[in-house]
Amino acid sequence: MNERDSEAVTGLLLGRGYEAAASAEEADVLLYNTCSVRDHAEQKVFGRMGHFKTLKEKNPALVVGIVGCMAQEHGENFFKKNPEIDLVCGPGNLSQIPDLVDEIWRERSPRLAIDKLNDEYGLEGIHYRSGKIKALVTIMTGCDHRCTYCIVPYTRGGECSRGSGSILREMKDLESRGFKDVMLLGQNVNSYGKGLEEKIDFAGLLGKIQEAAPGIGRLRFITSHPKDAHTRLFRAMRDLPMVCEQLHLPVQSGSTRTLRRMKREHTREWYLEQIAEYRSLVPGGSLSTDFIVGFPGETREDFEETLSLAEEAQFDSAYVFQYSPRPGTPALKLADDVSPAEKAGRHQRLLSLQRAISLKKNQALIGDTVEVLFESKTKRGEERFVGRTRSYKRVVAAGPGDLVGRLRKARIAGAADETLLGEILP
Ligand code: SF4
Repeated sequence: MNERDSEAVTGLLLGRGYEAAASAEEADVLLYNTCSVRDHAEQKVFGRMGHFKTLKEKNPALVVGIVGCMAQEHGENFFKKNPEIDLVCGPGNLSQIPDLVDEIWRERSPRLAIDKLNDEYGLEGIHYRSGKIKALVTIMTGCDHRCTYCIVPYTRGGECSRGSGSILREMKDLESRGFKDVMLLGQNVNSYGKGLEEKIDFAGLLGKIQEAAPGIGRLRFITSHPKDAHTRLFRAMRDLPMVCEQLHLPVQSGSTRTLRRMKREHTREWYLEQIAEYRSLVPGGSLSTDFIVGFPGETREDFEETLSLAEEAQFDSAYVFQYSPRPGTPALKLADDVSPAEKAGRHQRLLSLQRAISLKKNQALIGDTVEVLFESKTKRGEERFVGRTRSYKRVVAAGPGDLVGRLRKARIAGAADETLLGEILP
């Protein structure tokens, strides 16, 4: 979502007559879009403050802004601790950035904008896109769940859906410009439609997009809460040709005890039933997840249950994070009692297990024919190209010719845990 927000703000500034600078050193306006989900991400931003100061010493006219979730979370404290900052702007206020930057230029005084957290989605109808093949489209923001470790409901606010008319206009525009793969974005896309006057849910929105912009060909979405992802969604995934066979369904832990303390509102058993239904309705569909290890009170037995869930669920891939306490979240009241060494050990064990599962699942695809949308050349500069299958498996293949932007059938000839090797079929 931050990626799309940054792209949209870039579009707004280009529309106001700004030009993209080649580097931070050459810029007159420097905006840093930030994430608060993990402490590590925040520390990286605080670590940049010295650099901002140096840039500002060299170019005193430089406008430096902190935008996004950290801006919302820390507000005017940024000005107190870091006088080099001119703008602090939360996720709900991003559409005001061109005006705010103009004001700072004019009046040379800082601006704080964090008051629009639960307003309507403000970044609609922005034509600018940084790519030509894949696009991100925000359909809702915020979250009404209250997972105890998570800061998102406090930095992004409550759930707020964008009207379907505006989404469909954007989808048609992307179709007419030749985009081939669209990812719908929201903190919890499955509760799309809540609070809107029109009677619509997420599966209904997918159906409308299929009707309005079938030429896009591939439609994905992220992210889903297990409690809100159910039969209607899986049926839409089965029945609508555009909707790719890919589901990211964060589980966080395999222990119901830990899930309760996380306030995830689902149990291990419920999760396993959901994915069994998904697999029966969407055969061959891929499944990925997120795990947090070392949550307060997570015992060795709890962690063993997470390992056994990973074995049982056979995810195609998983992101594994070590728990870090976030200010203002309910979990802060729980003792962070799993030692850093133990967290690191659990992280490593789960990652190794997942890598072995991912490898085995990818090896099972050898010999299959898949449809690949190629997105870029490999970084090594050889005539090899990187693309994705409908199920979001990464495929590397050699030409003939330039494959970027092309849909090709490929036979899987080799597999590693994160990449498949393809041979283009004539
Ligand atoms: S569902 Fe839970 S983890 Fe996801 S954004 Fe909402 S509160 Fe955070």
